[in-house]
Amino acid sequence: MSSEVRAGSFTLAQRMTAALAGVALSSMLCAFLLYDRALARGMRENAEQRLARASRSADLLIQDHLAQTEARYRAVAATPQVRATLELAHTPTTKALAEQIRAQQDAASIAFVSSRGTLLARSGLDSSALNSFGAGRSTLFVVAAEVHAVVSIPIDLSPTHAVTLVALEPISAGSLKRWSDLCGATLTLAGADASRRDELTAPIEHWGSAGLLVVADLALERAALRSARWQLTWAGLVALALTLGTCTAVARGLVRPVRQVQRALALIGNGDLSARIESRRTDEIGEMARDVDRMAERLSASHGELAVRLDELRRSQEHLTRAQQIARLGSFEFDLASGALSASQEFWTIFAAEDPRKGLSPDQLLERLHAEDRGSVVEAFRACTRHGTRAQIDYRVRLPGGGERLLQAQFHLFTLDGEALRRVEGTVQDLTERRRAEEQIRYLAYHDGLTGLGNRSLFTERVNLAVPQARRRGTKLGILCLDLDDFKRVNDTLGHDVGDGVLRQVADRIVQGTKEAEIATRDRAPGFEPAVARLGGDEFVVLVTDVRDASDLARISEHLLHGLQRPYRIGSDEVVISASIGIATWPDDGERVDALLGNADAAMHHAKADGRNTFSFYDASMNEVARRRLSVEVRLREALEAGDLELHFQPKAELANGRIVGFEALARWHDPELGVVSPADFVAVAEQTGLISGLSRWVLDRVCDEVTAREPALRAAGARVSFNVSAREFGPRFASEFAATLTARGIDPGLLEIEITETAIMRDEETAIAALHDLKALGVSIALDDFGTGYSSLAYLQRLPVDTLKMDRSFIRSIAEDASAASLTRSIVAMGKALGLYVVAEGVEHEAQRALLKAWGCDAIQGYLVGRPSPATRAFARLGDHGPSRHSRSGRSRTSA
Ligand code: C2E
Ligand code: CA
Ligand code: CA
Repeated sequence: MSSEVRAGSFTLAQRMTAALAGVALSSMLCAFLLYDRALARGMRENAEQRLARASRSADLLIQDHLAQTEARYRAVAATPQVRATLELAHTPTTKALAEQIRAQQDAASIAFVSSRGTLLARSGLDSSALNSFGAGRSTLFVVAAEVHAVVSIPIDLSPTHAVTLVALEPISAGSLKRWSDLCGATLTLAGADASRRDELTAPIEHWGSAGLLVVADLALERAALRSARWQLTWAGLVALALTLGTCTAVARGLVRPVRQVQRALALIGNGDLSARIESRRTDEIGEMARDVDRMAERLSASHGELAVRLDELRRSQEHLTRAQQIARLGSFEFDLASGALSASQEFWTIFAAEDPRKGLSPDQLLERLHAEDRGSVVEAFRACTRHGTRAQIDYRVRLPGGGERLLQAQFHLFTLDGEALRRVEGTVQDLTERRRAEEQIRYLAYHDGLTGLGNRSLFTERVNLAVPQARRRGTKLGILCLDLDDFKRVNDTLGHDVGDGVLRQVADRIVQGTKEAEIATRDRAPGFEPAVARLGGDEFVVLVTDVRDASDLARISEHLLHGLQRPYRIGSDEVVISASIGIATWPDDGERVDALLGNADAAMHHAKADGRNTFSFYDASMNEVARRRLSVEVRLREALEAGDLELHFQPKAELANGRIVGFEALARWHDPELGVVSPADFVAVAEQTGLISGLSRWVLDRVCDEVTAREPALRAAGARVSFNVSAREFGPRFASEFAATLTARGIDPGLLEIEITETAIMRDEETAIAALHDLKALGVSIALDDFGTGYSSLAYLQRLPVDTLKMDRSFIRSIAEDASAASLTRSIVAMGKALGLYVVAEGVEHEAQRALLKAWGCDAIQGYLVGRPSPATRAFARLGDHGPSRHSRSGRSRTSA
């Protein structure tokens, strides 16, 4: 409330004064007008009465004057001279008498008229009218604009004869003046002065016809009226001034307490609750003032309480903010109806809002979320809003200046009044620092301070994680326990610092060497991080996963030993040292980490006993196997380079007529030291070591040589030469490279067949199927090898563009003895036939097997019964055996189509 009166407006006192003054003024004006009218009217009545009185007085004065004049002339008429003259009836004498009388009496005219109205004689004014004046009649008469008194006196001369004396006497101005003075009004001749219009006039009662008027002069009344008006006006002004003064005083008196109340209210409104009016008035304003005082009293009482509460609230708010800062915890509320987001300051600090007081819009907030986590956060939020699911979710945010934060949000749906109020409430905690600290602690707990490698705990954890994975994949784990040979000597001779330096470099070389071996021989991605740990002293352990064969571990060990042999440079010292490795495998050598480590350690001691700088398997039998495989790798490389391999061919015979319809090319390697090595052994090694591409290249070349050499014979017999394609070779470029070779060698693709396993196709199905289509388009026949050992589903088969199904040897082996094997094989034959495939049985060794397969409708057989794999010259000599009946291949509709 403003205690100031705004400019241009009026205060309450001014308003009241103006209103009261207005009322006083207008009532005074009314009174003045009414009084004035009454005064004027009264004055006029007065004047009229005065006039009437004057008129009556004038009448009496005239009558009196006429009576005196009459009496005077009666006396004249009664004189004997007059009577005698008239009785004489002599006109000149009569005239002379008239003149005499006129002169005597100072009359204007004297006439003698007979009773019959005849003028007998006259003197003075000639007026015929005078003749008509009857005897005894006196009146006023106006002649020549002058008022005259006229008297007629009868003079009886005899009983029958009478003469009338008519005298005309002017009434002098002096007489008129005197009369006017006497009757208080002016006697004047009517019409004498036109300027007297606004004065009151009245004719004198009996003498109006004579033209005499009474004129009342109103000047006095007017002056009186004027003076009365002046006095009235003055009185009015004084009264007005008094009224104004009184009004102002009264208004001030009323407004002052109102002002006090207003000022007090304004102070209270501005928070000064000590303001009081303390009025002693007993009227309504006093009541109001006391009410205001009471209100202020109560307010200040409750304000005191409120101030305490507010203070508490502020303090708890500060505590909360500080607690949120310390805990890096922000809280938020999101109103679902309006989309309004409100959050604590710490919340915005966590999200790195430029201005934590303004915050960010929901869209900006969403943008800050890490792209990979955004989806899951939005999903959790949706689930929360739709189903009221409570959520706890960890996610990352990107900071505008670069960098990331790891946050944990917890939120739930809050509803009130049914669904009227729906909002998501929650907290967001910045876990970045905590996670970093946890990682630090974890790192210290799980790592070796000297080398930065993992320690026993970390290694145990890694093994425990790897075991279920290996179980799922059907692979093995290898634990290599590595101990430096005679390390004590380094410490003793060169000191512990050099010893530590060696250990650090050994650690690096183990990690590096493991990586190299894994990448080179086991198809690992370059970013692969091996699990290497230092158990203490000079003892290290390596975990190798995805082990399919013991030779993998032998190879890695060999590589590590080789790498560790190189001299170490520590400052100016050069140290040469070797190591021994003990190998244990899961699950063969133990289930649990402790057992595996113990066994690897035992194996390691075995290696030391064996002369050091070597590795040893815990299971001694493995040593032989692994070492042999290792030497296979070394010698196979040499054999391939020297061209020491051979290619044998095994015939296939059609069951219907026994005719030879194809040959499978099979690699043979006779090593001077190792003897004849089965491809079942060396192909796997070749695949693992990458030697397979050289081997495949060599086989294809050799097959091409044979096909070129024997083309006419093959054509004549309607036979093909098939060869095996390794899964590792069957990549996206296989078909085009193969086609290029055939073109270069000028080979008819129709004479070739490719044998491929399901596992090879399933490595990358899309690419493989595309490659198969390309090969088919070339005109090459395709056989699905080892059918029945892999996935072997009918639905899957339908999708593959193959021509021939080669049933694996394991099915055929017992069909003659085992009924269930027989029925299984029989249904595979039936299924293959139903799909329009050419079905070949592998590993047929006995006549009984051949008979059964023939009875079930199998197309062809391959096996020792038909012929063992043998060098080309001997194998191809079989072409044309058993009667060359060419029509028999017409059943193979899919290839001829
Ligand atoms: P595969 O493709 O199933 O070859 C058939 C295998 O069965 C050959 O073994 C063959 O000697 C053998 N065999 C044939 N008939 C009989 C029989 O009646 N009884 C018995 N017990 N065995 C018989 P091999 O030559 O040892 O080849 C083993 C595997 O090595 C082959 O199996 C094939 O997968 C692979 N292989 C052979 N040569 C090559 C090659 O040049 N390149 C590729 N990539 N793999 C090859
Ligand atoms: Ca084969
Ligand atoms: Ca096979």
